[in-house]
Amino acid sequence: MQYHSTRDNSISVSSAYAIKQGLSVEGGLFVPESFPTVTLEQISWLADRSYHDRAQFVLGKFLTDFSEDDLKKCITGAYTKEKFGTDAIAPVYKLNNSVYFLELWHGPTCAFKDMALQILPHFLTTSMRMTGESEEIIILVATSGDTGKAALEGFRDVNGTRIIVFYPDNGVSEIQKLQMITQRGDNVSVAAVRGNFDDAQNGVKKIFTDGEYKTLLGRNGFKLSSANSINWGRLVPQIVYYFSAYADLIKSNEITLGDKINIVVPTGNFGNILAAYYAKKMGLPVNKFICASNENNVLTDFIRTGVYDKNRSFHMTISPSMDILISSNLERFLYDLSGQNDRIVAELMAQLAETGKYEVSDDIKAKMQELFDADCCDDKETMSAIKKTFNESGYVMDTHTAVGKCVYDKYTARTADKTKTVIASTASPFKFNQSVLIALEDYNAVAGKDEFELLGMLEQKSGMKVPASLAELKDRTIIYNTVVDKDQMKNTVSDFLKVE
Ligand SMILES: *Cc1c(COP(=O)(O)O)cnc(C)c1O
Repeated sequence: MQYHSTRDNSISVSSAYAIKQGLSVEGGLFVPESFPTVTLEQISWLADRSYHDRAQFVLGKFLTDFSEDDLKKCITGAYTKEKFGTDAIAPVYKLNNSVYFLELWHGPTCAFKDMALQILPHFLTTSMRMTGESEEIIILVATSGDTGKAALEGFRDVNGTRIIVFYPDNGVSEIQKLQMITQRGDNVSVAAVRGNFDDAQNGVKKIFTDGEYKTLLGRNGFKLSSANSINWGRLVPQIVYYFSAYADLIKSNEITLGDKINIVVPTGNFGNILAAYYAKKMGLPVNKFICASNENNVLTDFIRTGVYDKNRSFHMTISPSMDILISSNLERFLYDLSGQNDRIVAELMAQLAETGKYEVSDDIKAKMQELFDADCCDDKETMSAIKKTFNESGYVMDTHTAVGKCVYDKYTARTADKTKTVIASTASPFKFNQSVLIALEDYNAVAGKDEFELLGMLEQKSGMKVPASLAELKDRTIIYNTVVDKDQMKNTVSDFLKVE
């Protein structure tokens, strides 16, 4: 299996190269040249297998240059019971006869980014070895919260790598911030950027496309790579859990082999929902994808009208990991919908860069709308969804998952669609404890309480245990308190690497 760039079909590289490189030279994203197929018989076979076997099966279809043994080492190194607290790795929770939560947050940082970022460092070091790489890999990450910590945990003390994480100064939750500024590891660095997530992300993109700087780093034995969701090594592990969820529903007789399901994904960068779409392209029976956004509803408008327009005000919401106006992975979706037309993608991306806006053809729009539904909700509706679901069933959702549930409820009210539905549950409620508690109680209940009192309160209310990785933050020392302007990010990298 070879990989093209979304902006240049003449580029054809192995998966090891695509993973090592992160972004293609002309700014495009790596995509598989074709999609391997999975039959219903194979899906039925998966039902009786462990998560490791399911991952080996799905990943092996894409990472064809990895030996079976190398792949196995990546999988068993990443998805351990010690790190995920459960052999299921990504368990499915039944809310009622039609709604299931795919819980993707049992990893070390309590959010779904762990599903990809625990395995990416293994992919990357294997890819380096396979391609004869001797330079030290420098991972640059712009994060709206969850990616940063998950990447730090994934890469810390991995030989031959260093990692620098930038997060928007006021765009992450207290817990997320604490998780990052107390990060341990000899090869890590963390800095806050004055601005929002897009400022941080654009800053990182600028560094990546700076040819002169790349040469300078190269002279010093460094090679930049990305752990952002644009890296193919981030996306491909996410395809696995959609097959895994379906396999679990078969195993527990909730569905019959071949039944179509709906998949709802609380969306930001469009990575998680794209992985679900790729699973369908491979043969997973899916009826509708429901793209759920918060008040930053650029994707809702896009899917409904075919016009992508990021020229709108940016909202800071209680689901900060979805506070995004440029969804990078949408580029891969456009490439697919346009029939792998690199010219169209390059053109649309140029328009986006120039004017912040583009419109897709009627043909692309029609294909998109056939499969995708989209809606959004504001913070108030998100809070009501948390409270309503808790009152009805005792299940506590985090704020991102609640956006998914709220949008799903709007969808069923609008369409009366009774198809069984899997909602991607993307974070532990403990990670966003303050907003969750305000939803369950009120503002007064949380006033004047610190993060750790809130964790205790939520434990009592939910009957769930505080995840150990969050409880122990209390005794950690703060190591990183740098705040930089967005045009200073390159200097921060240089300082950390000691290059001039
Ligand atoms: C990253 C993240 C999302 C959005 O996922 P995308 O792949 O960027 O669409 C949703 N919820 C949580 C908790 C996240 O961390």
